Amino acid sequence: MTTTTVRDASVFGDAMEYFDEAASLLNLEPGVRAILTHPSRQIIFSIPFQRDNGSIEVYTGYRVQYNFARGPAKGGIRYHPGVTLDEVTALAFWMTWKCAVVDLPFGGGKGGVTCDPGELSPGEIERITRRYAAELVEVVGPDKDVPAPDVGTTPQIMAWFMDTYSMHMRASTPGVVTGKPLEIGGSAGRIEATGRGVSLVAFEELRHLGIPPAAARVVVQGFGNVGSVAAKMFAARGCKVIGISDISGGYVNQKGIDVAGALAYAQEHHSLAGYGGGGHVTNEALLEVECDVLVPAALEKVLTAENAERINAKLIVEAANGPTTPQADHIFQRKGIVVVPDILGNAGGVIVSYFEWVQDRQGYFWKESEVNERLEELLLTNFRKVREVAHERKIPYRTAAYMVAIDRVTRALKMRGVYA
Ligand code: NAD
Repeated sequence: MTTTTVRDASVFGDAMEYFDEAASLLNLEPGVRAILTHPSRQIIFSIPFQRDNGSIEVYTGYRVQYNFARGPAKGGIRYHPGVTLDEVTALAFWMTWKCAVVDLPFGGGKGGVTCDPGELSPGEIERITRRYAAELVEVVGPDKDVPAPDVGTTPQIMAWFMDTYSMHMRASTPGVVTGKPLEIGGSAGRIEATGRGVSLVAFEELRHLGIPPAAARVVVQGFGNVGSVAAKMFAARGCKVIGISDISGGYVNQKGIDVAGALAYAQEHHSLAGYGGGGHVTNEALLEVECDVLVPAALEKVLTAENAERINAKLIVEAANGPTTPQADHIFQRKGIVVVPDILGNAGGVIVSYFEWVQDRQGYFWKESEVNERLEELLLTNFRKVREVAHERKIPYRTAAYMVAIDRVTRALKMRGVYA
């Protein structure tokens, strides 16, 4: 594949913009730049499977192993109708920098199946998953490529993946995937890890900005696994969470939302629809509520050139992947809004995935308090390193984070050399 074909593709093309800025500041040699702008391996395969009614259908599966310089590929598996090779490649590219910026001994990968899991029975999902895993048996493994859950996939799906791989290997191999249920080698603290990481970097930056948590007003978009845990942790440290939202819309209460009550409501009703603890607004309006910390924790591309001027926050911590377009990012820089980029903001999940892999390989499992302590240490040490670079070079955190990550991958690449 040539660089041109890769770059013309939209999602991957967008992802490349942030890379380019940092790569130029690092004066990357053309050869290194060429290696880092090409995926190491892209795999596309058919997944024939039997529907419950006996008919046969064929879906398409993907796995992209973007870079191995620092270790085995690492990244989730997405089940969604919008999955394409371009999207999976962009996500694998992001994983490369996310793993490197928090100093994990992993490269980047991502996979997916173009399907709508909402329309499939558990049995159909199991058959698709087992065929997906079987197709990848030679190229995944604890030392090769370690998948995890992403949009549309669950701990149960990881259990089926692990079981299929183990059956082919004739050896129980929990370290082939992370995000597993606790019973088969999952890690304590994994489910809360991403939301916990979001709040940890937010508190670290608030301290730096001189805003005590008790004086911070927080708005969180998205009330799923990441957003609801982050909101809970903000409230636990005394912040006033004044806005939350899910697909049903936003809920604003200047006196502070009762986060525990909202969580209980969402659990009971499987949605915030009808929640009475705050005035109802649209999701677009929620993002524009004046606050100290804004946490987009739902979808990509929600902060754009269209609404960036109206965003009224001091700090944005990106919990979703890619919530800010490059145009919006420039507007935030001009307005002096500090942005903690996704590759740091939501890295808590992959850090605890790394701990899961370590525990599986040792066959020795840590207490949740130990997992949380190590998460905080690894995430904040690397956030401070990024801050140092940002201050030294007078650049935003995002560019600094990419610089730290690209530099680490480049060093590994150069030490290993090019095998030809
Ligand atoms: P989730 O499915 O548990 O929750 C998503 C939330 O967003 C739900 O509350 C949903 O109602 C809401 N939502 C959907 N469409 C919306 C819309 N148009 N407006 C407002 N809210 C909307 O997903 P999650 O695991 O919490 O992931 C959220 C984001 O974080 C995703 O971008 C994901 O890629 C990213 N992320 C997740 C993890 C993880 O460990 N779960 C790790 C890294 C990044």
